[in-house]
Amino acid sequence: MIASDLRSGIDRLGDMIAEARVILPFTGAGISTESGIPDFRSPGGLWTRNRPIPFDEFVASQDARDESWRRRFAMEPSFAAAKPSRGHRALAALYKAGKAPAVVTQNIDNLHQASGFAPEHVVELHGNTTYARCIGCGTRFEIPWVKQRFDEAGLAPACTDCGGPVKSATISFGQSMPEDEMRRASELAQHCDLFLAIGSSLVVWPAAGFPAMARNSGAKLVIINNEPTDMDEIADLVIHHDIGETLGPFIGN
Ligand code: NAD
Repeated sequence: MIASDLRSGIDRLGDMIAEARVILPFTGAGISTESGIPDFRSPGGLWTRNRPIPFDEFVASQDARDESWRRRFAMEPSFAAAKPSRGHRALAALYKAGKAPAVVTQNIDNLHQASGFAPEHVVELHGNTTYARCIGCGTRFEIPWVKQRFDEAGLAPACTDCGGPVKSATISFGQSMPEDEMRRASELAQHCDLFLAIGSSLVVWPAAGFPAMARNSGAKLVIINNEPTDMDEIADLVIHHDIGETLGPFIGN
């Protein structure tokens, strides 16, 4: 059912939240646009400007690594300044109230942690861009360290332990999905009774499969997104409005 207007959507969502025992929020880039981080597919979004660099290309080519890091550094002011949106804060309120055990996110911006979720309760399907790792041995590096080496040498740095390529700790196209996170997300989706899909175009697989997985396991499904998604027809409630406006009333005190 598509909510006829914002008010009725908020009222119905409030009833569904009150009735639910276990809520699983599932978030995409749309929850962070209010925080100043552009999404991928909207007009002006990142993909209208840059072709994504696939994982194989990153591993094989120093030029691709340099370009990838130049893009990452260009985003640094947005990531560094970003504060949790009203959407993040409303979900953190559900978490603190014991209604949501965790959040599953496609985002890489660390804003669920910043809003109050314990790191172990943020299931990051596509990793986290606020730090880096060596692809070879997994050693962690901080972004300012990478930036300093890049500025000194004019090249993306290699791992100080094993010489492998250092990459932001995100999952690129062509890179396999993190097994543990996929397993945890599947379990959470199958054991919730209310699944909230928020700010995702629901076109990136396998992440886009979770709403249907929850629905098939008996959960109610709510989709909050300012444009239609392919999953709208299987949802119990669809709210085509701004996320901050929709979830703001649930922030509490
Ligand atoms: P997406 O860009 O495909 O979809 C975002 C959706 O949110 C769009 O349908 C858009 O219309 C909607 N939206 C944007 N702002 C909104 C608002 N204020 N209110 C309501 N709806 C709004 O993003 P996705 O589905 O998350 O998938 C793309 C991939 O992009 C993900 O894998 C993620 O890793 C990555 N990504 C992450 C970030 C981030 O971490 N903040 C930013 C850009 C891309």
